[in-house]
Amino acid sequence: MYKEEKKKALAYWSVRGFDVSGLHINVKEKSNQWSVPVIGYQKGRIIVVYADKAKEYNLDLSVVIAHEIGHYLGFRHYDRGHEIMKGTAKELGGKKL
Ligand SMILES: [Zn+2]
Repeated sequence: MYKEEKKKALAYWSVRGFDVSGLHINVKEKSNQWSVPVIGYQKGRIIVVYADKAKEYNLDLSVVIAHEIGHYLGFRHYDRGHEIMKGTAKELGGKKL
């Protein structure tokens, strides 16, 4: 599932020269175990993204995945040069890779 979205997200970084091999990207259909609105998170090489939350906030799934990969690569919110590293769903809404 979501093969294209994952591919696009990985390509965003690989074409910019970053090594994104060996990542485990899990797209889950439903969130609901979180009390705060978490759309995705990254821990080590593991990236988890919730499809229902992405939809709720009008976020392109590949953008959400690419955002989390950015954290894996050491980027922080609002680091220059990467629109997709903005920190809120509102700012990322409607963006495409
Ligand atoms: Zn983030």
